[in-house]
Amino acid sequence: MSNSTNPHFKKTAVIGVGLIGGSLAVELRSEGLTDEIVGIGRGRANLETALSLGVVDSVTTDVAQGVEGADLVVVSVPVLKIADVIRMAAPVLTPPCIIMDVGSVKKAVIDAVEPLVPEGVRFVPTHPIAGTEDSGAGAAFKGPFKDRLCVLTPTDNTDKEALEAVRSVWRLAGSNIVEMDAVTHDRIFAAVSHLPHMIAYTLVNTVAAAGGDETDMVRFSAGGFRDFTRIASSSPEMWTDICVMNSEFIVEMMDNFSSRLEVLKRLISRGDLDGIKEEFRKAKKVRDSLISEGWDEE
Ligand code: NAP
Repeated sequence: MSNSTNPHFKKTAVIGVGLIGGSLAVELRSEGLTDEIVGIGRGRANLETALSLGVVDSVTTDVAQGVEGADLVVVSVPVLKIADVIRMAAPVLTPPCIIMDVGSVKKAVIDAVEPLVPEGVRFVPTHPIAGTEDSGAGAAFKGPFKDRLCVLTPTDNTDKEALEAVRSVWRLAGSNIVEMDAVTHDRIFAAVSHLPHMIAYTLVNTVAAAGGDETDMVRFSAGGFRDFTRIASSSPEMWTDICVMNSEFIVEMMDNFSSRLEVLKRLISRGDLDGIKEEFRKAKKVRDSLISEGWDEE
């Protein structure tokens, strides 16, 4: 690594060359931040895709072999597996290597990873607020992080120079950086990201089952249902892991949602037109004000 404002890495290892890890590899290369990128995964198929698309320079399914000699390790596997792959990498990592994860849950990841990081190796927890419902190396592209937030959740153990280097990487990928503590992060994203995914998955299942004949009702659905449920096409593995790793806040937000839905249900059952209208008016006001403030709708 050259210096903290313009980092340069000799060898970057990306463990999990999917949408996020693959896209970050594309950015690292196009910004000239690394000489070499090794892609690491579980099986050959996805890795061969990454190689053929030029996302990485070489591939391996052997984590220790892939990270050996790396001065940057990007960990972009589903959150429940982040600590597992770092445990496999740790014995061969040498200071002053930086490990950064991109997981959608922070507190449980940090708690599991920090004790595994060898002396002198620097771990920086990050979460880019970007992505689509697609997954795998074929979904990687240049630009997903541009003008998006990237949340950094450093702890008392986070090395300041490594934090600055990681901050520069995300800035050069186009992100606007915010810092917060991991618990605050997990509560916020349980509300604005994890809860909507739970609702989208449940809504599709509810409508699919409602007609008796599984596909009947869905066939009549149009643009609104399609837009609302887009995120139900997200990777089941990734979202199962997020539920496990952020269960407390997700359950809290699901309880809040159920109570709110119950209020609306009661208003509808009573035929309380003013009450119903007031619920809709409140929600529309919040959403409209976000749009007028330049809210990005992705
Ligand atoms: P993805 O496209 O499914 O990529 C994850 C990749 O990890 C897969 O391509 C898989 O590749 C590899 N992998 C899975 N388990 C592994 C293991 N045990 N060991 C090694 N490799 C493994 O998912 P993603 O959307 O990029 O998400 C990756 C991370 O980014 C997750 O932690 C997620 O929470 C976070 N994130 C996602 C988004 C989003 O919107 N998608 C946004 C921000 C952060 P192989 O098949 O080659 O093993």
